[in-house]
Amino acid sequence: MSDTKTKETKETQKSVCPDTCSCVKCDFTKNLDAVKKYVDKEWDLPCEEGELADFVAEQRSDYGYERGLMVEGGPLRKIWKAFMDEWPELFEMEDEIEFLRGLESEVCG
Ligand SMILES: [Zn+2]
Repeated sequence: MSDTKTKETKETQKSVCPDTCSCVKCDFTKNLDAVKKYVDKEWDLPCEEGELADFVAEQRSDYGYERGLMVEGGPLRKIWKAFMDEWPELFEMEDEIEFLRGLESEVCG
């Protein structure tokens, strides 16, 4: 009879894939873990060119457009949302709008 358990399942939501698996979900989880470590240390999102920065940019844009891994109701969207909620200062709405605007101009240009 304890309801403290629900909070601890967060970490154990991993799939049954082996460590070396590189399916979409595992890839996402690994990248997000790396981003979290980076954010814990730097208090900022990885923005220099590289795999992590690309990953973050992709999730942010997909989240905004509700596509890819970030489709509405998708399990990975929830995980990403939880990450954004943890670090609201890194994901301020204005930034997101600016960010999406930048992407649009890239696409259109
Ligand atoms: Zn996997």
